[in-house]
Amino acid sequence: MDKQLLDILACPRPGCKTKLRYSQERMELICPGERLAYPIRDGIPALQIEDAREMVPEEDVPPA
Ligand SMILES: [Zn+2]
Repeated sequence: MDKQLLDILACPRPGCKTKLRYSQERMELICPGERLAYPIRDGIPALQIEDAREMVPEEDVPPA
């Protein structure tokens, strides 16, 4: 995942727009505030609200 690209990616939810964090382990982009995880498919982040899943409580948010 391109670091520069990651720097400009924000949560697509209206009113959120939090900078996303990258989980290499799970190949996801995480909104830390809402604990939503957006998948990365074939190297392309799927930043649609309908693509996101809610993280389970056991999962850790990746560090910034
Ligand atoms: Zn968000």
